[in-house]
Amino acid sequence: MAFDEFIPKSLLLALENIKFIPGYGEKNASRFVYGFLKLDQDKKDNIVKSLQNLFYIGHCKECNILTDKEICDICSNPKRSKKYIAVVEESQEAYKIEKLERFKGVYHVLGGRISPLEGIAPEDLSIELLKQRIQKYSPREIIIATNPNPEGEATANYLIKIFKHYNIKITRIATAIQFGALVEFADDLSLEESIEKRE
Ligand SMILES: [Zn+2]
Repeated sequence: MAFDEFIPKSLLLALENIKFIPGYGEKNASRFVYGFLKLDQDKKDNIVKSLQNLFYIGHCKECNILTDKEICDICSNPKRSKKYIAVVEESQEAYKIEKLERFKGVYHVLGGRISPLEGIAPEDLSIELLKQRIQKYSPREIIIATNPNPEGEATANYLIKIFKHYNIKITRIATAIQFGALVEFADDLSLEESIEKRE
């Protein structure tokens, strides 16, 4: 009996599929699958149901943030000013800024960062959508809050180059956050500081 005939097909299939989750690979996929199989039936049910519910999550048509609505709660809130757009790499980073309850503008989620090594080009990010929003709302200021690492800086520089011809103030935050630390993991205080000191 061949090795892969001995292992249940459903197990092999789960390993094959889960390894494609970004950042996973074979090692984490096997950790997930074998760990899952050790759980009680109740917990297995809960995990499967919560994963199924993720099918209802998509991207806001305005800002590209993860949402289960066509237009997210921030973009549809009349109290949020469309004159200030904070550009972040991923939705998690917008949530982090949102948790501070300081920023009254709106976000724009790029969906990643320019990274030639990972094959991520500007066209792979939601930059066209950002251009459309700028034309539609003529914002006063764009706050570029990409991560302070080489890819985040390259992305920020690319955006600055594109938008410098527009009549908008462009600011780059992340100065108070240690170089190399990710916005997502920065503590609340340093993030607050960098928003306040963004001039
Ligand atoms: Zn939105």
